[in-house]
Amino acid sequence: MDLGIKKIISGLVKDPSKIVTIADAWITASNPTEEQKKLAEARWNICIQCSEFRAEREITGEPYCHDCGCPLKKKIFTREFNECPQKKWKKVDDLLWESTQKKKKTLL
Ligand code: SF4
Repeated sequence: MDLGIKKIISGLVKDPSKIVTIADAWITASNPTEEQKKLAEARWNICIQCSEFRAEREITGEPYCHDCGCPLKKKIFTREFNECPQKKWKKVDDLLWESTQKKKKTLL
């Protein structure tokens, strides 16, 4: 059995060139703002009704998108606009994405 990193990544993600976007989504998912949580929840509600939604991936057991191969619990936190491969997030991204782009205020 080949457990090379390339095989693991291609088993998880159909397009490895998206790995930076995916890594960014994972980081965002680990500590999201309230606005990012709201947007992710709205995207999730679209995904679970989509024909490409798969509840359990063989390798990790987590939900994923059959079209792009991305793990959805992380993908929904992407900071990219309407990153859904079928562009189904446009409606909610049009409403909520802008609010996730605001920079946090600092004291300086
Ligand atoms: S990312 Fe898009 S295509 Fe994939 S499950 Fe979600 S709505 Fe469907």
